Amino acid sequence: MPASVKPAAPVNRILRSSIVDGPGNRAVVFVQGCNFNCVYCHNPETQNLCSSCGICVEVCPAGALSLERGEVRWRSDRCAFCDACLTICPHTSSPRVRLLSAAEAMAEIEPSLPFIRGVTVSGGECTLYPDFLKSFGSLAHERGKTFFLDTNGSYDFSADPELLEITDGIMLDVKSFPAEAERVIRRSGYDIFSVLETLARSGKLYEVRTVVSPGLFDATALVDQVCRLIADTDPAVRYKLIRYRPAGVRPEAAAVLHTPEDALMERLADSCARRGVSAIAV
Ligand code: SF4
Ligand code: SF4
Repeated sequence: MPASVKPAAPVNRILRSSIVDGPGNRAVVFVQGCNFNCVYCHNPETQNLCSSCGICVEVCPAGALSLERGEVRWRSDRCAFCDACLTICPHTSSPRVRLLSAAEAMAEIEPSLPFIRGVTVSGGECTLYPDFLKSFGSLAHERGKTFFLDTNGSYDFSADPELLEITDGIMLDVKSFPAEAERVIRRSGYDIFSVLETLARSGKLYEVRTVVSPGLFDATALVDQVCRLIADTDPAVRYKLIRYRPAGVRPEAAAVLHTPEDALMERLADSCARRGVSAIAV
């Protein structure tokens, strides 16, 4: 990754237009690196930073990768985006990552500014880079755009009022009950209901998301608890119920995970409605 101006973040991808990452048409910056290791992760290659082991260099058919002074270099102009490097990487990482300052990331979005309502930072896990977020959010506001985050719920927003202040809206994953976290996100210390309550009370929570896979955790009980909390704090928050699908999931996990039937998704959405929470099942 080239040297850059701080505050910077490793960026996996920038989308100039998306209608599924917050309200309206938005540009999205996907950062590299995550502090969870969700069993159903659909983009496992975004989890870790590249260790420059060099294994992927050998399989690149386009000469887009090289090892220079112990660091892997990626040439986007040569890349065929065949994903061979992602498939072979033993570290759930990617060599196609650039360290970008907030200003550099914004410069790449600049051409689409007349056509978008705002910008979203997703991941990976965006809150690993709070200084980048604050700087990027400030640049978005200077351009008259809203600034949204998509987060896994690991960040203590109550300890960072500056980040909460600059953020216009948050999409929050609720992945399981804390007691099931070791199995679902493969991490301990998952205090998701406290984060959910902080964000709902702040008025910045836009959407809660849960991936549903039968047998992984008790989705009926989890969805009900989330709905009760939303109804008590900010009933305007919407709840997106996401059907687990195997695309992109590591083969060993996909072999044991199940996709829910329509009937379960409908029952979950109905239970949200009974609590007065607007839910969409996708
Ligand atoms: S996706 Fe990876 S392996 Fe394929 S051409 Fe690009 S750098 Fe090379
Ligand atoms: S992307 Fe993976 S395989 Fe390639 S150099 Fe980095 S850690 Fe090694």
